Amino acid sequence: MLSIVGCERESGSAAVSRAREIMGTFATLTAIAPDKAMATAAVEAGYARLEDVNRLMSDYAADSEIGRLNRLPAGESLPVSPETFECLQRALEVGRVSGGAFDVTCRPLVALWKSAARESRLPNEEELARVRSLIGTDKIILDAEAGTAARSMYGVQVDLGGIAKGYALDLAAEAMLKAGAAGVLVDVGGDVRAIGTNAADKPWRIGVKHPFQQGIYVVLELSNRAVATSGVQQRFYEIDGKRYSHIIDPRTGRPAEQSPSVTVIAADGLTADAWATVFSVLTIEEGRQLIAGGKTPQLEVMWITGSVAEPIEEKTAGFDSYIVE
Ligand code: AMP
Ligand code: MG
Repeated sequence: MLSIVGCERESGSAAVSRAREIMGTFATLTAIAPDKAMATAAVEAGYARLEDVNRLMSDYAADSEIGRLNRLPAGESLPVSPETFECLQRALEVGRVSGGAFDVTCRPLVALWKSAARESRLPNEEELARVRSLIGTDKIILDAEAGTAARSMYGVQVDLGGIAKGYALDLAAEAMLKAGAAGVLVDVGGDVRAIGTNAADKPWRIGVKHPFQQGIYVVLELSNRAVATSGVQQRFYEIDGKRYSHIIDPRTGRPAEQSPSVTVIAADGLTADAWATVFSVLTIEEGRQLIAGGKTPQLEVMWITGSVAEPIEEKTAGFDSYIVE
């Protein structure tokens, strides 16, 4: 996804936009504020929050809160920041509502498939069975009063890769508003949170990348919404010439075989990010049924399957209202 930032200026307001590498990807933060100093301060405040999420929740960094949780003796509780607590709590909630399609304890499975791919082989049944016994959101124990997290057994490991980026969009956007921005666009690796309007006082325009080729598939107009895209085309492994998604179906222990590209529009970044991962695990039919069941948050979804020659697109009823080109 690429963000397209208007460069016209409304009089009495300034736009500042800065791109940086962070969270293993590229980010662009844009603030519209009464003057340039305030817009710059807002962008910096946004980046500080992205840094916070990275420092607290990266599962690669052994000294992050998630890194420490993953090494904690079973049954022992770790006091965590309110941010990590909220992200974990909402992740478990998405897990529950999605019937287990979203599962932040998927890390041992992700690791198993990654190491098998490095050795150009598929994991065997024994390895899969052993690792699957470590999976399940019931194995993460949160205590809201104490502000702690624990894991119920040795080997259980958390991976917030499917949700933390979206949560980071929300924390950054909130900090930017607090610093005085009236319009905010936070783009982290193509997942975007848009608040208010752009420099031309119009809804923000965001391009969704084409799943099968270079360039943009559709342009969306968003205000006070977030959009996230997940899918096989984003990141994958190859074993024996076959592509495997980096998204695991926790119900089978195998890489998701669903839609090559899922784009979700929601009210906030965490919701868009987590649910884009959910709909990458579920079949389109399962996804539609789940939405029809009325338990999901308010979402619009676009699934793209098919091939370069013939992309096949399915959307929920309200998705088109965001498309401008
Ligand atoms: P996303 O690109 O937002 O769909 O996130 C994908 C990342 O989420 C993967 O790289 C894993 O770190 C993690 N992940 C994989 N499968 C799942 C799953 N079923 N539920 C939650 N997180 C997952
Ligand atoms: Mg996600």
